[in-house]
Amino acid sequence: MNDLNPAGWRPEMGPRQHPAHETAAVHTATGNRGLQLEEPLIFEIGAPGGCGVDFDAVEGGPADALAPFVRKAPLALPGLSEPETVRHYTRLSRQNYAIDLGPFPLGSCTMKHNPRLDEKVARMAGFADVHPLQPVHTVQGALKVIHELAQWLCTLTGMPGVAMTPKAGAHGELCGLLCIRAALEARGDAREVVLVPESAHGTNPATAAFAGYRVESIPATADGRVDRAALEARLGSDVAAVMITNPNTCGLFERELKAIADAVHAVGAFVYCDGANFNAIVGRVRPGDLGVDAMHINLHKTFSTPHGGGGPGSGPVVLSEALVPYGPLPFIAVEADGELRLIEEEDAPRDHPGAFGRMSAFHGQMGMFTRALAYILSHGADGLRQVSGDAVLNANYLLRSLEDVLDAPFGASGPCMHEALFSDDGFAAGFSTIDLAKGLIDEGFHPMTVYFPLVVHGAMLVEPTETESKAGLDQLGMAIRSLAERARAGDEALKHAPMLAPRRRLDETLAARKPVLRWREPA
Ligand SMILES: *Cc1c(COP(=O)(O)O)cnc(C)c1O
Repeated sequence: MNDLNPAGWRPEMGPRQHPAHETAAVHTATGNRGLQLEEPLIFEIGAPGGCGVDFDAVEGGPADALAPFVRKAPLALPGLSEPETVRHYTRLSRQNYAIDLGPFPLGSCTMKHNPRLDEKVARMAGFADVHPLQPVHTVQGALKVIHELAQWLCTLTGMPGVAMTPKAGAHGELCGLLCIRAALEARGDAREVVLVPESAHGTNPATAAFAGYRVESIPATADGRVDRAALEARLGSDVAAVMITNPNTCGLFERELKAIADAVHAVGAFVYCDGANFNAIVGRVRPGDLGVDAMHINLHKTFSTPHGGGGPGSGPVVLSEALVPYGPLPFIAVEADGELRLIEEEDAPRDHPGAFGRMSAFHGQMGMFTRALAYILSHGADGLRQVSGDAVLNANYLLRSLEDVLDAPFGASGPCMHEALFSDDGFAAGFSTIDLAKGLIDEGFHPMTVYFPLVVHGAMLVEPTETESKAGLDQLGMAIRSLAERARAGDEALKHAPMLAPRRRLDETLAARKPVLRWREPA
């Protein structure tokens, strides 16, 4: 963590009056507000027939055989010139918030600064231009990147094997459960149930259900951890696996995971650990030492790679001794002469008879692998350890500096891990988490994760990550503090936030229930 503050703001300067407060009522003919530009839909600005390039007129008509395929009505394309198109998308992009503009305090997402070095490495032609169908002897360098990254992931987690092909956290969960199912079926022991704590990320029960299991929920204790007694009481010969997030979604370390894992193994079941929160413990805790059988690692959270907007992601799954024989194809093997080889279906009967199949067409997300390995190598083992230390320190700094104005439901459970959990308990009647979150937009910040985890009413989950400076945390903390005070005092204006954003508060329920996904010609 460093104390450089690019914005030049210091806590002792107090809140700055943004001129927009005074100019909110200024009328402009265009709707633009200085550099904040209004932008219509592309279909509203294009003229039919407009085009970015000039085509020669076609001589004569089409051949008879092609006639049935000739378009009867003009194609409803927007029709813009190249500069108009570029401006349209650039204007839209400026209405977006980005990690390069400010912090993204989204709990559970680990939205950190991505070093430019990693981007540079991923764009090197030798990595960026390889094709997954190239002969293996021509891509030995790319395979070496995957193999070396795999070894780092095994070392960091204390696990003997890793499936590199899953393309996101949730995809990794599916991979892990399919390995577990293959292992159970191999011993003729089909089971039906997967136990999931109620604090779990939504993808956990969804994955278990998708894999064909019946999901049963395990309650949390008052201190925000999984109820070990309730979990152990439910264990039995019908349970295939327990899915536990550690650190969990309340931002707390599951201290009893080892004992839980022993109890799970005693009934012949497996432990799936959701490793999306690995950022809090990387370099300090090896999940393999805690009895975990399978855990996905979100490379796009812990190990660099810009994420958000749906991807790309990468979710390698580390596997225990018991599950390695069932991992998916393809994977990389080292030949006696040092050449790297891809083990595919044709090799599987001899080299990997337990393989349940494949998770994706090819080797996985190559661009994510190069970024992750560049990130790991540039930090080194000691740097990765510092990442988790700084991430946890930053979250605790926010937790302790805000708990006098915001309810911290598990503040008494000890230090948090990499995210601080608050609730709207104590807000004036009629005010809730959404008001504070929308107010943060006016303050120039992306809101935190809201209403998750579900075990806390009106939850606000703040994950600052290790890449925010103390000055940056103070600025975010000051904004949250000011909004919490307004919500406690019942400041009606807060109910109308955001006032200064390109769009006001939207009806999210209506947008979800009746989405308008297609532009229609105005009648
Ligand atoms: C992000 C996340 C996931 C899902 O990962 P994706 O890459 O988005 O599929 C699962 N569990 C937790 C706790 C997460 O934070």
